[in-house]
Formats: sequence, C-alpha cells, structure tokens
Amino acid sequence: MPKILSGLFDPFARVHAFKTPASTLSFVLSNMRSMRWIIAVCAISSICSALIEVWLIYYAGWLIDQLVFTPKDQVWTTLWDELLLAALALLVLRPAVAYVNEAFNDVVFRPSAVSLIRWSAHKHVLKNSVGWFRDEQSGQLASRVREVGVSATSVIYAVVHNLAYVLTYFAVSLWLLADVDGRLAVPLLIWAGLYGLHMAYAVPRFRDNYARFENAKTNLTSTLVDTYSNIETIKQFTDDDQDDPQTASRFKAALHSFEGVQRFEVYINVGMVVLSNLLLVGLVGCAIYLWQSGDAMLGTVAAALALSTRLSGMAEWMLDAITEIYGSLGATREALQSVGQPVDLTDASDAPALKLTGAAVTFENVTHRYGKAVGGLDGFDLALAAGEKLALVGPSGAGKSTVVNLLMRHFDPEGGRVLIDGQDIATVKQASLRQTMTSVAQDTSLLNRSIRDNIAFGRHDVNLDSVIAAAKKARVHDFITGLRPDDPSAGYDTVIGERGVRLSGGQRQRLSLARAFLRDAPIFILDEATSALDSEVEAEILDALYAFMADKTVIAIAHRLSTIAHMDRIAVVDQGRVVEVGTHQQLLAKRGHYARLWDKQVNGLLGNDA
Ligand code: ADP
Repeated sequence: MPKILSGLFDPFARVHAFKTPASTLSFVLSNMRSMRWIIAVCAISSICSALIEVWLIYYAGWLIDQLVFTPKDQVWTTLWDELLLAALALLVLRPAVAYVNEAFNDVVFRPSAVSLIRWSAHKHVLKNSVGWFRDEQSGQLASRVREVGVSATSVIYAVVHNLAYVLTYFAVSLWLLADVDGRLAVPLLIWAGLYGLHMAYAVPRFRDNYARFENAKTNLTSTLVDTYSNIETIKQFTDDDQDDPQTASRFKAALHSFEGVQRFEVYINVGMVVLSNLLLVGLVGCAIYLWQSGDAMLGTVAAALALSTRLSGMAEWMLDAITEIYGSLGATREALQSVGQPVDLTDASDAPALKLTGAAVTFENVTHRYGKAVGGLDGFDLALAAGEKLALVGPSGAGKSTVVNLLMRHFDPEGGRVLIDGQDIATVKQASLRQTMTSVAQDTSLLNRSIRDNIAFGRHDVNLDSVIAAAKKARVHDFITGLRPDDPSAGYDTVIGERGVRLSGGQRQRLSLARAFLRDAPIFILDEATSALDSEVEAEILDALYAFMADKTVIAIAHRLSTIAHMDRIAVVDQGRVVEVGTHQQLLAKRGHYARLWDKQVNGLLGNDA
C-alpha cells in the first residue's frame, strides 16, 4: 500500500473546537466536518463498486442471451467489442475502483477519523478543571476518550462503506429488473417490504439490548477500576475465597446482557435466512414463469438467480451495518456522558493574561461550600503581601485545602473573589494563571514516566544538570543514583510505577519538591508537603526550602507546627474562616487557638518532635 494515502489527512493538525451538541448524531457529523471530502470519496467509491457489481450480473444475463442466439462460429466476430469491453472492466476498472474504495475507507478515513475524534476529545477533556476530574473516574474517562473515536468513526464508516453500497445495489437491481419486465419488480418490492418490517421490529429491540450490554460493561469496568485502585482496602477487608457480592453481580449482569444481545442476533439472523429464501423462490419463480410464457429470455432467469442470491447476502450485510450504526451511536452516547460535557471552567474569549507585579494574593469574602449548605469556606478574608510567606493551620475540615484549591482555580468560588496582584483570577487566562504557581501536596502525584521526566515535567528547556541540581536541593539525588549503582546518571531514567507506587511517600514528596524547585514559579503552595519526611530529612530540606522561598509568595499548610514557625505570618482557620493571624511569637503571646495547638503538639502526644 503506497504510503502516500496515509498522509492525505493529518488529524492532529485539524483539531479546532471540539463540538458537543445535544444529539449524538450531530456530534458525530459536526466533529467530522473537516473530513468531509474524504467521506465523499469513500461514499462515491462505494456507490461505484455497487454499480459495477450489478452491471456485471446484468451483463452476464445479456451475454447468455447472446450466446444462445449467436451461431457458435460467429461468436468472436459478432461479440468481440462487448467481450473486450467486459474483460477490460473486469481486469482494470473493477480492481481500480475496489482499490480506491478499500484504501480510502480503511486507510485514509478510518484511522484518521478515530485519531481526529480521540485527540479532540482528549484536548477537550483536558480543559476541564481539576475539580471536574475529581468527580470522574480516570480509568473510565480514559476508556471513554478511546471509545468515542472508534464508535463515532464506525457510524460514518457503516454508512459510507456498507449502507451506500447496499442501497445502491438494491436500487439499481430494482430498476434493471423493472426495465426487463415490470412484474419482476413485484417479488423484490414485497421482499423489501418484509425486510423493512423485520428491521423495524428487530433493530430497536437490538439497540435496547445493546444499550443494556454497554451499560453492564461500563459498570463492570468501573467496579474493576475501583477494586484495583483500592487494592489495599480490598485485601485488608475481604478474604481471598470470599467474592465481593457487588463485583460478582456486575460480572453476572455483563453475562446476562451479552446473552441478550446474542439471543437477539440469532433471532435476527434466522429471520434473514427465511427472508432471503423467500426472495430466491419469488424472484426466480417469477423469472421462470415469464420465460416459460415467452415474456423473458433465459438470460433474465440467470440474472434473477444471481441477483437474488447476491441481494440476500447483502441484506444481511445491511442489517449488520444498521445494527453497527445503532450500536456505535449508543456507544458514542455513552462515551459522551463524560467526554461530551461542556468545559466547566472556560476563559472568556477576551480574557487577558495575568499581569504579575509581585504576586500578592488576596481572598476577598470568599464563600465556597461545594454546593452544600455547610462546610468549605464561609466569608474567608485573607491578604498576602508580595513575597510574604504565610502558613495556614487549623483542625482537619477547617477549609485549608479549599483555600489553596480556589487559589489554583480548581474551582470557581461560589461567592467572593480571589485576586493576584489585584486581578480576579476567574477573569484571566487560565494558562497564564497556572504559570504563576507551583504546588507540592501531601498526596503528591507523579506520572508513570522516568524520574527525569517527572522532575522536568512541563519544562522542555532544561538539561540533565538542572534536573540533578534540583534533585540535590530536594535531597533525593543520592536515592536516584542509588537506583542504578552501575551507571548513576541512568537512575534518572528509571520509570516510576503508576502514581509513584514503587517509591515511599517521603521519596515521592522529595521528587515533587525537586520538580517544584525546577519550575521556580513566583507563587509556591505547600499542602502538607513535608508530612511524609522523617524529621532528620525534613530539617535538611527545610534550609533548601527556605532559600528557595526567599523571593516567592508562599502559602503552606502544615500540621507539624515546627515546620512553619519561621513563616512571616500564620493564619489559623476554623470552620471556613480566619480566626487568628500573626507571627508565631504574637500568636503564642495571644494565648488563643494557635497557642493551644502549639501546646498540644509540643507537650502533648501529637508530633512531639517539635
Ligand atoms: P482541610 O484542608 O482544612 O482539612 P478542606 O478544605 O479539605 O479542609 O475541607 C473543608 C470542608 O469542605 C470539609 O467540610 C469538607 O467536607 C468539604 N469539602 C472538601 N472538599 C470537598 C469536595 N470536593 N466536595 C465536597 N465537599 C468538600
């Protein structure tokens, strides 16, 4: 297959806006618009293939009649032109059309269309906020992004490759037969009517069965994803020989729904066999009757025989195409439930980029209760001067993580504003906002890539030396080089398991600190960033951390108060509000919330390493 055909359409260059219209069919059509000329070539070549096929059968019938009536010694001289033309059609035209048809449908259209939809779905999904992703299961989301490309493509493929072919074949057959004798069209029309009724009964029921089947598959996948991603809990709380009832019931539901689909297929297929034999008996019987009564020639009987055999084969093909269309539309609809949602946080078309002057951060009467009546933040006010380092402390559930989530615009606040250098972060370009900050969190996420790629993630401009320097600052260089004692720098090429599971919590935190050091953004957010480190390593890192923070605006959440005692100010959060702000000394002197927390940690059971 010449390579030239695979370069005809570049799906990655054609992605503009992913369209998410209400109906599944209009979704498919609007997102395939950029491929319309390729789709047109596919459809036209399918139609041409069908025309050639019917013509061949018609020609065979005509030839039989000629052979019957032409004396044997005159066959070549009389029929030379027609025979030569037919040979050329068979040897040149038919293979050429078949090539264009197959190559365009299967090489140009299908792979590109799958990639086009998948890639644009992926780009669309990525635009959603982090908050949106927290509500979706990532395994299911990934399979839906993959699936939507395949199923949307199958819809169009079934129409232009199969349906166009079959409908053309049927229409031209009908026309040719009616041209020979109007009575020959009658069995074909009756057959088409019965076929239509069969489909009208079978297809919607098949679709319902198929939807149940898809649904059962999705449920099974999500249960498995949930099980595997929470394997520790599963192992701890269940016995090996005891099946989890929910998982078992999902497996059974998948089985039953699959049986339902298969049972229906049997019904449909047997119905098709009955119908095709009806056509054979009706059409050939009619042709023989006409021949016997002198109204048709022998060639017509032969053509009727060939046509009815081909048509009944094709009717099955058409049914497959229609069930494929229904099934794929169902699968597309299912995938669109998450992939097709409009992006929850969008930039206004004229949104300006954030103009950073000193990275001052202000929370102005911010309320965010995650759509509930209580919880979250409630009239939260806080201002950080440019370059100020502020710690947030307070009991669990007080709203500290919500504060940093809103600053990173993982959600838009339900009330109030978050400002950076006087600009409301909800009104500036999200990309420009993200560039201003780095965060290191307690449950640090690392990608399933090499250590080097993780540390340098998002920085295409850095070399290995910078990566190593950052790793040294985060006290993780020795660990990395120790991974490959034979070739220390190869340690940086070690691939981390999914979510960094092959590393300890402390190693993961140090890697993500190294990543933050390298990114070097003006606002630095630490959410329990050193909680998994032992005191000794933490003490070593704190020096590097304070040095790194020197020119940055910092918000740090920490339970271990010793780590934040040197911050410029400390804000105590309780029930979604700031209840105390001041320096460590001021707050201790005040003998309020902070002093109580401090006493508890220094003298009590918690974190007495302070
Ligand atoms: P902290 O970080 O101080 O422990 P959080 O900011 O995580 O507190 O939580 C503050 C409150 O908001 C809690 O009552 C919590 O239940 C609620 N909350 C946090 N995240 C969500 C969420 N994604 N959806 C709904 N409620 C949430």
